[in-house]
Amino acid sequence: MSDKREAPVTVVGLGLMGQALARAFLRAGHPTTVWNRTAAKADQLVAEGARLAPTLAEALKASPLTVVCVTDYPAVHELLGVDGVPLDGTTLVNLTSGDSAQAREAARWAERRGARYLDGAIMAVPPAIGTADAVILCSGPQEDFEAHKPALDALGTATCLGADHGLASLYDVAGLAMMWSVLNAWLQGTALLRTAGVDAATYAPFARQMAAAVAEWLPGHAEQIDSGAFPADVASLETHARSMEHLIEESEAVGVNAELPKLFKAMADRSIAAGHGGEEYAVLIDEFGKPHHG
Ligand code: NAP
Repeated sequence: MSDKREAPVTVVGLGLMGQALARAFLRAGHPTTVWNRTAAKADQLVAEGARLAPTLAEALKASPLTVVCVTDYPAVHELLGVDGVPLDGTTLVNLTSGDSAQAREAARWAERRGARYLDGAIMAVPPAIGTADAVILCSGPQEDFEAHKPALDALGTATCLGADHGLASLYDVAGLAMMWSVLNAWLQGTALLRTAGVDAATYAPFARQMAAAVAEWLPGHAEQIDSGAFPADVASLETHARSMEHLIEESEAVGVNAELPKLFKAMADRSIAAGHGGEEYAVLIDEFGKPHHG
């Protein structure tokens, strides 16, 4: 056992996620101070060795690093924005979910109050916190991240994405786009196969294999997007659009919802109409990169 003394940390907000964060700090040996609007949520953590600060101000003063995790950004401001809550000299790591504009605004607000500020996003569920599978994204000054990385590593795999405070939230929502796209595609296929008596569990291994195979294409598509050249080395957008038609027809023929494949097809058709039918699929980035006024 190491006799190294871990840095003290404070966790503000003890909902499902905040409690998991505090527990991970405790288990990694950090002296952990906690505070929550509803104090009773600290009881179990106190039994596990956390110290419940009597006031929010004392919680903030107890450690050089305070991790905040509450419902949303308005709650962060309601909590920390009142007079008498001392933020000067504190490093705040705000792991509350929100969008990039809220994150950048919170950074300016925290800096005006004399705090160092890292914005963050948690790409994990509470049971994964404290394991390497929990992805903790941060954005803000690299030196502040480096100063507190040893503590943040107790929560999971902590990464700093860059100085722009909005980046963690942007990655967070981009990851959500990936998550719902894969889940919706899986549900579309499952609904189709169920019409032929194939249950979800039978289809799942094939669906998983397809999702993994398609994920392998991403680095190649990224190269095309970054270079702005989309030679059809594998399949042209027109070839994809014809297959989309099969998916729409099949869905309609068996009475399954065809909204999702029709959305894919509408985007491909616009790109083809703009002259990109002979290019690789990644050329659709042009459609994704602008608002749709349909
Ligand atoms: P939760 O269980 O509903 O807890 C919400 C927390 O916010 C509680 O500590 C609550 O205090 C506090 N709070 C809300 N409004 C407040 C206010 N005006 N003033 C002071 N405290 C306030 O939510 P959670 O699951 O812990 O989620 C917290 C954050 O983590 C959210 O931004 C969420 O998106 C993010 N997150 C959660 C998960 C997950 O799987 N749970 C995963 C990734 C990210 P009280 O106890 O006093 O009500």
